Amino acid sequence: MAIEFSNQEQQPLMTPVFTPEDATEGSLRPRTLADYTGQERAKGNLAVYIEAARQRSEPLDHVLLYGPPGLGKTTLAGVIANEMGVNMRVTSGPAIEKTGDLAALLTNLAPGDILFVDEIHRLNRTVEEILYPAMEDFSIDIIIGKGPSANSIRLDLPRFTLIGATTRAGQLSAPLRDRFGVSLRLELYTPEELQRIVTRSAAILGVAIDPDGAREIAARSRGTPRLANRMLRRVRDFAQLYHDGVITRRAADEALSRLEVDQLGLDAIDRRMLLAIIRNYGGGPVGLETLAATIGEEAVTLEDVYEPYLMQIGFLTRTPRGRCVTRLAYDHLQIECDGQMSIV
Ligand code: ADP
Repeated sequence: MAIEFSNQEQQPLMTPVFTPEDATEGSLRPRTLADYTGQERAKGNLAVYIEAARQRSEPLDHVLLYGPPGLGKTTLAGVIANEMGVNMRVTSGPAIEKTGDLAALLTNLAPGDILFVDEIHRLNRTVEEILYPAMEDFSIDIIIGKGPSANSIRLDLPRFTLIGATTRAGQLSAPLRDRFGVSLRLELYTPEELQRIVTRSAAILGVAIDPDGAREIAARSRGTPRLANRMLRRVRDFAQLYHDGVITRRAADEALSRLEVDQLGLDAIDRRMLLAIIRNYGGGPVGLETLAATIGEEAVTLEDVYEPYLMQIGFLTRTPRGRCVTRLAYDHLQIECDGQMSIV
């Protein structure tokens, strides 16, 4: 039986932002700190803050989580709520359009509850300004009525914890950033951590996988649990049809090669990006905007989604004058350093 994969399917596979295909990922989310793999530094600090807040019977300080998409910010917020034994309301920066939307969310919280705001850097300014006194004094001023008869009244809020998540901490305004007592940066995961995540997810999904199969998926997931879980589901289909339902190294390799994900997890866009720097700009430096225009992608996508992993594996460096490709990338792409491809 022949299976065709269109190029359209390839893009969502390696783009760590949430897609409808990830709808089932809720069942794979760890619920406790002990079950949350990796991020040891962030977890260690959080465990202390959570325990201390619980001992004082107080809500946790406001928490800012930042890092590339798919690393577990939403999951960690859920873990915090679970460990604190409180409810969490989930929303996102762009979803809160008016100050009234935010006021409604805040006044409906119970004491100690968590309000999780994803993409918090995309809050609009007026809404953001309401958030300052809410975070600091647990009160908001709302205007009732219009024109000369308008009245401002102060509403007290329950003491709550705001957890903000962002891929771009640098875009947060200073007054907002300063109001978070705890600020945690999530890092890309190591292949060993991802292997543990894949093995755990396979057990939950009831998929047979051997350690080499899990290691192969982990090595190609760009340090990102969302991608690891997504690949696991794709590889499972191949294993079911061609490998007696067991994910072995061979099954994983075959499936991922057909999906054009290479041994290091690079996809067509990574290759286009590296090749453009090499061929058009002699290996760099080249400015991000220029590079984005050259390959027809958005600069923010390159910066948030592609660069973190390419920098982690040492293929790309950022200099004040722009991006440069390293020797390692030339070797991986099998290109001589003078820009000539030796093998196509
Ligand atoms: P983000 O909010 O940073 O975009 P999510 O929290 O939605 O990422 O995580 C994406 C998926 O990755 C989740 O469904 C979860 O199953 C998985 N995941 C993330 N972090 C971990 C982790 N530390 N351990 C196990 N699975 C994780």
